[in-house]
Amino acid sequence: MIPKALRDLLKEEDLSTLYEIRDLLSDMISMREAPLSKIGPTRDRGSNREVIEERHSGTMTFRLERVSCGKNCKGCPHGPYWYGYWREGGKTRSKYIGKNLNAKRLKKE
Ligand SMILES: [Zn+2]
Repeated sequence: MIPKALRDLLKEEDLSTLYEIRDLLSDMISMREAPLSKIGPTRDRGSNREVIEERHSGTMTFRLERVSCGKNCKGCPHGPYWYGYWREGGKTRSKYIGKNLNAKRLKKE
């Protein structure tokens, strides 16, 4: 649940600030979630992620995943949500996208 006070605060913000907040949240979510060692087999054993759909666009891989965060969570599994994966400097980077993967993003990246 989003606290009402926070909701009210957000309502006052303009669009550009909301975009910044969204980016901040997606970073925070990526940090909290278990790191992915690599773009591996679609279903690795013991993973807390279930991949429902996978799409490729250029160097990006997009996956629709259901995530189990683990302990003491009554909301598990979460999602499904889209994540983008790409290689950068020998590492796999990922980005939380959200419930919808829009077509524009697919073409652009
Ligand atoms: Zn959970």
